[in-house]
Amino acid sequence: MRTTPHSAASIFAIFLILGISSAIPTPRDSADCVAEAISGRRVFRRQDWSYEGATGPRFWGTLGEEFEACRKGRRQSPINLSSESARLNSSAPIVFKYPRKFGAKVANLGHTVEVIAPEDSALIVRDGVEYSLVQMHLHSPSEHHVTSHARSAEVHLVHRSASGDVQVLAMFLDEDLDSPHVAPAWFRQWKDLAPVKVGLDNAAPAPALPVGALAKTFATLGPFWTYEGSLTTPPCTEGVGWIVANTSVRVSARLLRELTSLMPFNARYTQPTHGEGEEASLVVQ
Ligand SMILES: [Zn+2]
Repeated sequence: MRTTPHSAASIFAIFLILGISSAIPTPRDSADCVAEAISGRRVFRRQDWSYEGATGPRFWGTLGEEFEACRKGRRQSPINLSSESARLNSSAPIVFKYPRKFGAKVANLGHTVEVIAPEDSALIVRDGVEYSLVQMHLHSPSEHHVTSHARSAEVHLVHRSASGDVQVLAMFLDEDLDSPHVAPAWFRQWKDLAPVKVGLDNAAPAPALPVGALAKTFATLGPFWTYEGSLTTPPCTEGVGWIVANTSVRVSARLLRELTSLMPFNARYTQPTHGEGEEASLVVQ
């Protein structure tokens, strides 16, 4: 993968994702920040975006100069995946180098529940470049749509190369209403360990998360959509490689809700693709 001019921004973005300690602003926080923006001071703290109201996705690009890509970007994510907007591949264009298990942390960031990976513990290789898993988190409902249909939830596995390029693997989860106990072991641990309390200080250790099984599962969920887009949260940095599995993992509706009940609605609306599907396909393959 070629390097992008966004490396520094990508590093910042991942730091930002990891660094949020109290992601749901109180109404007073939000009101203060809007007032500051109107007065031109633009004094925004990291957590001053949300999924609703005046700090919701439609306004992210106006919340600060560092978020401008959310408004001005031409390759924003998520998107409606179709033959016009992305390429469909029979296998994922990556090689997994994940261990069988690793010791992680599970943190409730307020806007999502995140598994923070130990440094350089789980890698993928794409086009000869290694990317290290930084964290994985959940959106509910799904952010990407497939031919205009949303799924119940979407897992994002965020990887970063040594030069700061970002690759995200996305996996859909669908509610299984008939099987009250069905869930992969990695999902079950994630859910069981998820702290109710928001903040990195309240992160829970996950001493043996079975990420090897997660990688094996992902590889079976083809075909895979690929395109080049952005982070789906502020600062919406572009130059992100996306690999989205088309086949979903079934999880008991009850177990899925136990995890999603810890987070708000947290899906950004699908972004216009400006008819760039063909160009995007050339970039990613
Ligand atoms: Zn995400």
